[in-house]
Amino acid sequence: MQHYDVIIVGGGIVGSTLACILLQHGMKIAVIEAQTPIAETAKNIDLRVYALTRASEQIFRYIHAWQNMEKQRVSPFQQMHVWDAEGLGEIHFDSAEIMQPTLGYIVEQNVIQTGLAQCLDEFKNLTVYQPAQVQKFEVTDTSVTVTLNDQQTLTSQLLVGAEGANSPIRTLAGINYHLYDYAQQAVVATVTTEYSHQATAWQRFLPTGPLAFLPLSNEYQCSIVWSADTVVAQRLANLEKIEFQQALGEAFAFKLGDITDISVRNIFPLKRRHAFHYVKPRIAIIGDAAHTIHPLAGQGVNLGLLDAATLGEVVVDTYNQQLDVGHYKYLRRYERQRKGNNLVTMAAMDGFKYLFGQRPPSLTWLRNVGMALTNQLPPIKRHLIEQAMGLTGNLPRIASPSIYPQTNNKHR
Ligand SMILES: Cc1cc2nc3c(=O)[nH]c(=O)nc-3n(C[C@H](O)[C@H](O)[C@H](O)COP(=O)(O)OP(=O)(O)OC[C@H]3O[C@@H](n4cnc5c(N)ncnc54)[C@H](O)[C@@H]3O)c2cc1C
Repeated sequence: MQHYDVIIVGGGIVGSTLACILLQHGMKIAVIEAQTPIAETAKNIDLRVYALTRASEQIFRYIHAWQNMEKQRVSPFQQMHVWDAEGLGEIHFDSAEIMQPTLGYIVEQNVIQTGLAQCLDEFKNLTVYQPAQVQKFEVTDTSVTVTLNDQQTLTSQLLVGAEGANSPIRTLAGINYHLYDYAQQAVVATVTTEYSHQATAWQRFLPTGPLAFLPLSNEYQCSIVWSADTVVAQRLANLEKIEFQQALGEAFAFKLGDITDISVRNIFPLKRRHAFHYVKPRIAIIGDAAHTIHPLAGQGVNLGLLDAATLGEVVVDTYNQQLDVGHYKYLRRYERQRKGNNLVTMAAMDGFKYLFGQRPPSLTWLRNVGMALTNQLPPIKRHLIEQAMGLTGNLPRIASPSIYPQTNNKHR
């Protein structure tokens, strides 16, 4: 029976990031991942891209994954333009307003995953079980024993569920969650536009839901996330290519001219989930296993990375004091720090979705005036820019701006 300090289930972006943080500090880690190794799948074109905040960039720099991603492809954006389809309200953010080189980055999922895989490859204190799944686990006062689907058993001080929205660890641990179906789906694709995207992240609020154009490294290509009520989204996803291009151009008010080409389209159902608890004795859940939110501000993976950084810090601090990293009282520090923050972001997303989904003239007027005023008030605008960059709130040390802690590389 193999013993580890921490077993992480799910080697996605959030789980791999936590693994890197803990490995850097010399802990013995196992990652259990259901899918086949990333090297085999990274060749496929992935339509999923992420708008990463500066806080997420800091976390990736800390674990030396950012350098790997930059070598492949990251697309910095300096500006963000948001406007209302029903009225004249608009707001424009520019990183120059707060003397920063960029507001954030658009990065493809495969680039992030391979960047993280390259980091993980360097550690001798890591064992990856892949493809593998957890069949059951048993918690005692001193450890947790995990049985895999091939009947291997592993033990550790702490078991972390990072296997996404349908987390089996969350279910096996008996952690319930709030579920809210937005009755919306997101159509995702890569599009080519007539005009340059100008390193700007664009978002137009339509009465049926928000439409985002995220700038890719080719200045005429964007990744789109078009969230709409389920019936509308399914109709859009099933349109002929040329009809979809026309509908997309119109929905975007031809801000970047005609849509001249488009990839295949993917469609994702949108649901909000929030776990009642993030921790139990010897168990913690992070990322989509703990919460899923509406993608209208592209915050999902950013929140997950903050979970990984916060839990990572708590576990490393506990480990360095030679205390029990799976003890509930230490794990609660992670839950206290992240749960409230995640809830606030979720509430803000729901507020935006509600406000921009309304057609009554009074609400349309209110939000248009609100946007126009905000656009002209430097202190409020500055705060909103910092929020969009992920630099506000109770950040873990490794995500804080201007702090690049020295990392311990001796275990690589
Ligand atoms: C349309 C859309 C657009 C989005 N856009 C953005 C954006 O721009 N910016 C942003 O920040 N977020 C965005 N998100 C949210 C983002 O996709 C998620 O928040 C993020 O992928 C969560 O990462 P994760 O590692 O927690 O989970 P996942 O990405 O789901 O990874 C889970 C990992 O666990 C593995 N796994 C699953 N089940 C098991 C099992 N039983 N055993 C072992 N391993 C298992 C999986 O194979 C995977 O590797 C978007 C979401 C949607 C739906």
